[in-house]
Amino acid sequence: MHKLHHGLHQFKTEVHAINEEFFGNLARGQAPDAVFIACSDSRIVPSLLTQTDPGQLFIIRNAGNIVPPHGDTCGGKEATIEYALEGLHIKNIIICGHTKCGAMAAVLHPEKLETMPNVQKWLGHAQKTKEIIDRHYSDLDFDFQHSVVVQENVLVQLENLRALPSVARRLWKREVELHGWVYDIESGEVYVYDPIDEEFEPLRYARDGSLELADGLGMPR
Ligand code: ZN
Repeated sequence: MHKLHHGLHQFKTEVHAINEEFFGNLARGQAPDAVFIACSDSRIVPSLLTQTDPGQLFIIRNAGNIVPPHGDTCGGKEATIEYALEGLHIKNIIICGHTKCGAMAAVLHPEKLETMPNVQKWLGHAQKTKEIIDRHYSDLDFDFQHSVVVQENVLVQLENLRALPSVARRLWKREVELHGWVYDIESGEVYVYDPIDEEFEPLRYARDGSLELADGLGMPR
């Protein structure tokens, strides 16, 4: 804990003290650009990946970046999303999975969760992901399956998200956009799901200087 306590002191004296106006504005309210649903994994730092400041991302985290289906009261995820849309009028929701995800490894091998009944129950929300792997990728090795399960799970959780009434209503009125991302810890690349090409693709600069999806450069599996 010493490192954390030292960090608290350093934040107050070296960061907060020289940005008082910024934090003063934050104290008056928030208007985040996006809801960011990510895994609890300590290696994932949403504000670092997106180079955003406090106040810009409304973050929901859990093991496996999961969105439980409508009506599930376990953990209050639906309530948090509802608040983000109704209360804060956020227009974008990102589900961001990541490579080497321990939760997704456990989805592939649930027998390793015998001593963790609550984790087992929680990862039941990724059962559909597991079924996709069993149906289409069962003869492939673990590393390949592990890469694929991360990507497929983002798509399954996007489906769960679409089915939440608070989200469905806004999708109907085109008041919210959903995005599926996968962060590759090793390369630093974030792959964005392209629903037309049906694959996760990296962002690249186009000739006019704008960022666009690199068609044909699908995420390696
Ligand atoms: Zn993870």
